[in-house]
Amino acid sequence: MSTVEPKIEAVIGVDIGGTNIKIVFVDPRQGNVIDQVDLKTSAELGADAIVGELGTTLAAMMLKARGDGIQVGVLGVGCAGVIDIQRGSVLVSPNLPGWEGFPLQEKLIQILRIPVRVFNDVDCIGYAEYRLGGSELGNFLCIALGTGVGGSLILGGKVWRERGTSAGEIGHMTIQPDGERCLCGNRGCLETLASAGWLVRRAEERLRQGFASTLRDDLEGNGSLKAEYIQQAAQEGDGLAQELFNLVGTSLAIAIANVVQLLGIQSVVIAGGLANGWDFFIGPLQKELNQRLTMVRPPDFKVVRTELGHYAGALGAAYLATEAGEL
Ligand SMILES: [Zn+2]
Repeated sequence: MSTVEPKIEAVIGVDIGGTNIKIVFVDPRQGNVIDQVDLKTSAELGADAIVGELGTTLAAMMLKARGDGIQVGVLGVGCAGVIDIQRGSVLVSPNLPGWEGFPLQEKLIQILRIPVRVFNDVDCIGYAEYRLGGSELGNFLCIALGTGVGGSLILGGKVWRERGTSAGEIGHMTIQPDGERCLCGNRGCLETLASAGWLVRRAEERLRQGFASTLRDDLEGNGSLKAEYIQQAAQEGDGLAQELFNLVGTSLAIAIANVVQLLGIQSVVIAGGLANGWDFFIGPLQKELNQRLTMVRPPDFKVVRTELGHYAGALGAAYLATEAGEL
């Protein structure tokens, strides 16, 4: 049996979220994606089983790549939650229950025998925007609107996050002093006003209170709502759906104005599944921002929607791992 001498050194990027895991193989010199795969995350299986399955999949992909003359140099992983970057472990992750203290980096090194770096998932999305995004962003804040609200600051081309801290976690900035109790324990966090999870929760609550809305048919027909239904209802002119997206926009604007006042960032990039509701929240967001940023609005300040797709986080993890020395 003849062996093929590896000619290309590739980097693997992985994005571990609450519902699926995205994997990309990247040739960092050309910047092209060699291979990409999605795995479903069964959160109830727990960290060991999920990472075991991920390791098996990656090992098989690495073996196949080796046959094509591709050697993997390093693996970068973006993971939802607060990450200890030095140790590569998960400190807290509300969307990955049971992962607290999980030594993700150590486990993957044991399985794959290659260098592994672990980062926060939204840091990876923000870094991908910096490296691959279409617009001139300058110093910027990346906000990921998903089940929760994640955030990442990219200042001077680097991720602004000391090891394992909450720097950039805009989702837990207080917007309503006496608001709803957030998963984090605080009240009135941005996450309780502008995440897909809370959008659904709030819509269901209003329906229970007797608000008239076409969403009632969705709730009664399916037993529960999804952010997509609320988006569809807003599209069709439903008053309740539009009011809820209005709340998303104004709440985001208050948080963004606070960050701009403090840091003088030049732009904000909005990513995540709920960014699909862009048309319904960007109007209220801009209006509220104009009312709040009255004094020190940086020239050309802009709020833009991500132009990167499904694999942004995995790509960012690959680039961050390649350039880990600069973190
Ligand atoms: Zn919170």
